[in-house]
Amino acid sequence: MFLGVNMKDYVCKALAYNKMVRIYSASSTNLVEEARKTHGLWPTSCAALGRVLTVAAMISTNYKADEHLTFRIESDGMIDLTVVEACHGQVRGFVSNPEVFLQYNNGHLAVGKAIGKGYLHVIKDLNLKQPFSTTVDLQTGEIGDDFTYYFASSEQTPSSVGVGVLVNPDNSCSAAGGFILQLMPGCSDDIITKIENKLNSIMPISEMISKGYTPEDIIKELADDYEILEKNDISYYCPCTRDRFYKGIMSLGKKEIEDIINTDGKAEVLCNFCKKNYIFDKTDLESMLSNIKK
Ligand SMILES: [Zn+2]
Repeated sequence: MFLGVNMKDYVCKALAYNKMVRIYSASSTNLVEEARKTHGLWPTSCAALGRVLTVAAMISTNYKADEHLTFRIESDGMIDLTVVEACHGQVRGFVSNPEVFLQYNNGHLAVGKAIGKGYLHVIKDLNLKQPFSTTVDLQTGEIGDDFTYYFASSEQTPSSVGVGVLVNPDNSCSAAGGFILQLMPGCSDDIITKIENKLNSIMPISEMISKGYTPEDIIKELADDYEILEKNDISYYCPCTRDRFYKGIMSLGKKEIEDIINTDGKAEVLCNFCKKNYIFDKTDLESMLSNIKK
């Protein structure tokens, strides 16, 4: 029954409708399940983070291996912070409140209600002097609508974003996936009408994944003529290292580190993204001090 979970996670990129439309599609069940296990996510928190992770996984395949993409949603709901970072299909993220289970009357997970009103910040670090940062108002907090609006208003690319996550009765993720349709400049009204008709007739994306649809099958649902350009594996991955946190503590400065030595005697740092705990004892802290002096 739960076909989606056995499928490999990957993104497919295609050109369709006589090369006037770019399509991304993804199956992301395993990476969302990885996030769910890492953070102990309840269903609505899982759907919220899973949807953002899926958009990030799709978009980040466009960037080079050393370019980083960050989505940060600050809002006023039960989940008031959602952060996702991505680097060429490798994604990691967290939500401020992992234990939210809210449903609408129709039984759907109430992601928009859990997130509430607020802002979507998109930060692109392309190894230039300064990262690019843009902010848009959230539209519904349902994620798909919010990214649709972001692409149209900030990137001047008319788009349609669909993302979905289904959760099993035991809270594990049974299916997750998404698509992004983007119109190229000069796309005709005729094509737009065709796409609108398709979007109105397809089943929800999470249902497609749970029925075993691959990213190629999703593209087939969205377009009659298409050409697959590339496929990229995607996964949940945290690149944090002990060395990075060591440098992080060092950057606090001499006075702060001396305070830590005199009070707790050690520093404990928890990675927000993978929940790994790093402990720096007195010897570590003293070596930081001597490194600073150098
Ligand atoms: Zn980590």
